[in-house]
Amino acid sequence: MTDQLTFDDPRTRFPKIDPPKRQIQDEPGLQSEMKPTPDMGEATYRGTGRLTGRKALVTGGDSGIGGATAIAFAREGADVAIVHLPQEQPDADHVLEQIRAAGRRGVSIPGDLTDAAFCRELVATANRELGGLDALAIVAGKQITSTDLTELPDEQFVETYEVNVFSAFRIVQAAVPLLPPGSTIVLTASLETYQASPERIDYASTKAAINNLGKGMAQQLAEKGVRVNVVAPGPTWTALQVSGGIPKEEIADYGSDTPLGRAAQPAEMAPAYVFFSSPESSFVVGATLAVNGGTPTP
Ligand code: NAD
Ligand code: MG
Repeated sequence: MTDQLTFDDPRTRFPKIDPPKRQIQDEPGLQSEMKPTPDMGEATYRGTGRLTGRKALVTGGDSGIGGATAIAFAREGADVAIVHLPQEQPDADHVLEQIRAAGRRGVSIPGDLTDAAFCRELVATANRELGGLDALAIVAGKQITSTDLTELPDEQFVETYEVNVFSAFRIVQAAVPLLPPGSTIVLTASLETYQASPERIDYASTKAAINNLGKGMAQQLAEKGVRVNVVAPGPTWTALQVSGGIPKEEIADYGSDTPLGRAAQPAEMAPAYVFFSSPESSFVVGATLAVNGGTPTP
C-alpha cells in the first residue's frame, strides 16, 4: 500500500489554491478567517522524537509558517512558546491547542515586536515559562506592498525593519546568554532575498539583511556550540498575503508561477525548521535552505 506521506507527487500533494477574490483583511490578518484556511499540518505532520525535551520559542507562531513550525516542534517533542500580536489571540489559541494535544507545554506571549523592551522581555518570559530555552525559530514578519517608493510611508519602512530585522537581532541578543551549547536558531528570509520585488523594496531588503545577519551570527555563535541557519520560503498561502502583502488582484493566482505551478502551504515549510533545529543537522551552520517550489537561488 502506498503511504501518502512517504511517496507523493509534489505538484498535487497540496491542492492549487483557488481562493475567493474578496478576502482582504487589515494587517496582521487572522488566518482563521481565510478561505481556504492555510494548512499547518494539523492532519498530517508526524513527529519522530527529533526534538524531544527541547524548549523552543517561535515568533509569529500563531499562524502560517510559524504556526506550522510550532505544531511540528511540539509533535517532535518540544515545549513551545509562541509570540504574536494581541489581536491574533484566536489564531494563537488554535496553535496552543495543537501543541497541548501533542502532550507538550504551550505558552502564548502576546506583544509587539517593534517594541525593543518587549523583545527582551519575551525571551525572559519564554525562559521562565519553559524552564529554559534551547531553540529559537524567528519567523514573524511584516510585508506591505507599495508600488511607488515616493509614496512609501516612512513609518512603514521603519516598522518593516523593526519587525523583520531589529527584533531578530534583539531576541537573539537577549537569548544568547541563556542558550546552552547544542541550541539552535533559525531565521526566516525569503525568495525575495535574491529577487527584490519592485512592489516591496522595504520588505525585500529586510529579507536580504536577515540572510546576511544569519551568516554573520552563525560564525560568531558556532564557537559557543549554537548553530544559526536560515529558511528562505517561496510563495506560501498565509495571512501575510491577504493583509496587504501582495496586491489584491494577485491573490487568486498566487504562486502559480513557481516551477511546481502552485503556492506552498505552511505545512511544507515546517520540516526545514525541524531539520535545522534537530541535532541531525549538527554540521550545518550558516546555511540557507530555499523552500520555494523550484525557483533557482544563488
Ligand atoms: P503570517 O501572517 O501567518 O505570520 C507572520 C506573523 O508575524 C504574524 O502571525 C504575526 O504574529 C507576526 N508579526 C507581524 N508583525 C508583528 C509585530 N509587530 N509584533 C509581533 N508579531 C508580529 O505569515 P507567514 O507568511 O507565515 O509569515 C512568516 C514569515 O515567513 C515572515 O517572516 C515572512 O516574511 C516569511 N515569508 C513568507 C512568505 C509567504 O509567501 N507567505 C514567503 C517568504 C517568506
Ligand atoms: Mg498571524
